[in-house]
Amino acid sequence: MIISLQHCDQCGTCIAVCPADALMLSEFKVIVDHEACTECGICVKMCPIAALEVKNED
Ligand code: SF4
Ligand code: SF4
Repeated sequence: MIISLQHCDQCGTCIAVCPADALMLSEFKVIVDHEACTECGICVKMCPIAALEVKNED
């Protein structure tokens, strides 16, 4: 999971929809727990401004 933080407005939508609870809002940005993330892609679909992207790096 890659988050383009220059676009993210911290709306919280992706955090609410993540089934793995892998997204968290820190003070100024959304952070991903890469251990927990299953790369299901739901957050990518739900982000209203397309600030999220799935990258397969294995
Ligand atoms: S890809 Fe799925 S598991 Fe990973 S952060 Fe997004 S919603 Fe959560
Ligand atoms: S849904 Fe998109 S804009 Fe909203 S907090 Fe997540 S990455 Fe940021």
